[in-house]
Amino acid sequence: MQTVRIYRLTYLSPILFGHLKAAQMEAAQVWNQCCELHKQARTTHSKWPGQNELQQATKGRFALHSQSVQMIAHAFVATIDATRQLRATHPKMRMKYPYKTKRFYPVHWPAQAVSVERGRVVLPMGRGRASIVLHLDLPEHSGACTLVWNRGFELHVCIEVPQAKHAPGTNKATVDLGEVHLAAVTTNTGAALVVSGRGIRSLKRQRNMRHRQLARKQARCQKYSRRWKKLQRAKNKMAGRIERRVRDLRHKATRRVIAFCKEQQVGTLFIGNPHGVRNENKGRHHNQRMAQWEYGKDKQYLHEKCAQVGIVCFSGSERGTSSHCPRCDWKKKPKGRNWTCRRCGFVGHRDIVGSMNMHPIAFGSRIAYPTSLTYRRPGPLRDRRQDKELLPSGTS
Ligand SMILES: [Zn+2]
Repeated sequence: MQTVRIYRLTYLSPILFGHLKAAQMEAAQVWNQCCELHKQARTTHSKWPGQNELQQATKGRFALHSQSVQMIAHAFVATIDATRQLRATHPKMRMKYPYKTKRFYPVHWPAQAVSVERGRVVLPMGRGRASIVLHLDLPEHSGACTLVWNRGFELHVCIEVPQAKHAPGTNKATVDLGEVHLAAVTTNTGAALVVSGRGIRSLKRQRNMRHRQLARKQARCQKYSRRWKKLQRAKNKMAGRIERRVRDLRHKATRRVIAFCKEQQVGTLFIGNPHGVRNENKGRHHNQRMAQWEYGKDKQYLHEKCAQVGIVCFSGSERGTSSHCPRCDWKKKPKGRNWTCRRCGFVGHRDIVGSMNMHPIAFGSRIAYPTSLTYRRPGPLRDRRQDKELLPSGTS
């Protein structure tokens, strides 16, 4: 099983920065060439170029490693296929075939092209040209690399990770995803875990406030003036930092869920899909919070981490799970963080109730209110210095 590890390339020398930029611009030229060929075929109603034709047309013409060029042709063909399918199945999307000329494109090196040495990684740029050397300490089983721009250069590295062959047990668990409580997990063993999402919520609020301050200042500047650019840089720096912190906290939070499942010997995990909660209009502050709630990522991270430890994971609708009493099925709209039943006197944590009610939907049997409830924060906030672990580098 493979995962991607992201290395930020900070403190690059101007020369190396130029090399990386040039590589991405060259990659864009390959894409543009493919695009042009495809456009010609389309307008003249001749046979569309396939993988082989595109590879032939781009071979040996660009200042990149031959396999990097091939990967772009490959990605282009995949885009064409996906577009053709979507045009047939979803005509309302009005998908267009690639037509824009690109200035930059990520450069990809397959595993066989990359050579990882101690303390450095060598990315070839083709015969007769200097390779790009980055002073990164990649793990031993790292493979394909991609040079990506995301408010600064990043190297995305494919890494082989061990995959468990057997599930930790045969117990069943459900997860209720939320915004205040990122995940509420209940198992049929009588244990429950709540992971707080307040850290992420507060980071996002901080970003929104800071963004507003900077945008107000920018509104008073001439667009693209020196001060405007300075503020834009500040905005990007702040947004990037908070994005990385949120991602880190999300990984930590989902890891807590999986660790709990492993400890409780869970074999199957059900994730309730909170779709539809976001579409209600509840005032601008609440709406903003809901719009910025990334439960799709929570689901994705949980799915991936489950696969790694051998837990079977599936998701489905959680309609009505938070509005029914788990003991007597009394229906009401919950208010506040506690769920209280007027009919049978049940009192419990609101998100745990949501999670408990998923058991009948997913596994067909009710569970009792958990006897042990653990409340956790995802973990410590990411250290700012982690961004600066890269050493200065050069080309050879
Ligand atoms: Zn009740």
